[in-house]
Amino acid sequence: MARMPGAQWRPVPNCTKGGQEAVYGVVLHIMQGTLWGSDSWFRNPSAQASSHFGVGKDGTILQWVDTSDRAWAQAGGNRTWISIEHEGKSGDSLTAAQIAADGKILAWAHKTHGVKLQSTDSVTGRGLGWHGMGGSAWGGHTACPGTPIKNQRDEILKAAGASGGGSSDSGSRSTTTYTVKKGDTLSSIAAKYKTTVAKLVSLNGLKDPNKLSVGQRLKVSGATSPTKPAYEPFPGSAFFHGGRTSRIITAMGQRLVAEGCGAYRSGPGPNWTNADRESYRRWQKKLGYSGADADGIPGKASWEKLRVPNV
Ligand SMILES: [Zn+2]
Repeated sequence: MARMPGAQWRPVPNCTKGGQEAVYGVVLHIMQGTLWGSDSWFRNPSAQASSHFGVGKDGTILQWVDTSDRAWAQAGGNRTWISIEHEGKSGDSLTAAQIAADGKILAWAHKTHGVKLQSTDSVTGRGLGWHGMGGSAWGGHTACPGTPIKNQRDEILKAAGASGGGSSDSGSRSTTTYTVKKGDTLSSIAAKYKTTVAKLVSLNGLKDPNKLSVGQRLKVSGATSPTKPAYEPFPGSAFFHGGRTSRIITAMGQRLVAEGCGAYRSGPGPNWTNADRESYRRWQKKLGYSGADADGIPGKASWEKLRVPNV
């Protein structure tokens, strides 16, 4: 059972109990009418229609169908997608209040059902989609919810992040250039950069997304790998023994020298030597350790205080 806190619970009979088989994402719709008009229409059994959520122009959120139950909003897409109907008509843009409300629903769907905070234009994709993307299998409503709303999805995603949805993309984003290689497709490139085909198409103004040529340069905006921590994490005491060669040991030695603890006749270098051990012992003494705690073998606490730059 999944009902969203903050939504008014207004259950309607038009749904398939227990029929939600998976949640690939959230589908946007437009009502061609008012919030309360839809509220009464979805209670009419002859309508054979409903959606999980409804959002008024003033940002009111109604939940008509529990998300463990299947709403009747997008035909072939009902089993695997959650639906939001919006007050208004095709061609309208969402109001700021509607965008904020959608952001809350999406953040909740992200937490509750693991919905990805990204746009998708594919019925087999994941994230924030729109009714028309399903074509005839989804009832052929290609004008639902209309282009302006489709283009507001980035704003909804932003609102979802601000509503505490968190995001796998919350790391630094940057635009880089990718050179197309043999065998690449837009979707393989999109996957590599954790972005979507639609974004690549719009970022590069591509006319035909199926035509890529080897050597073609594409702008790519995606989640970059998470920023490295500033300092090298403690590799464990067992890391430090004769025969170990690592850039971490060089970086450590440089920090020990900077702290006035260097016992090196040459170096520091990447091989763990007695000079490293003696230098580290001096560092431990500088921190006030003595006896077995100043044995020259790095421990977690003293390592973290040394602040070895990440290599
Ligand atoms: Zn629709």
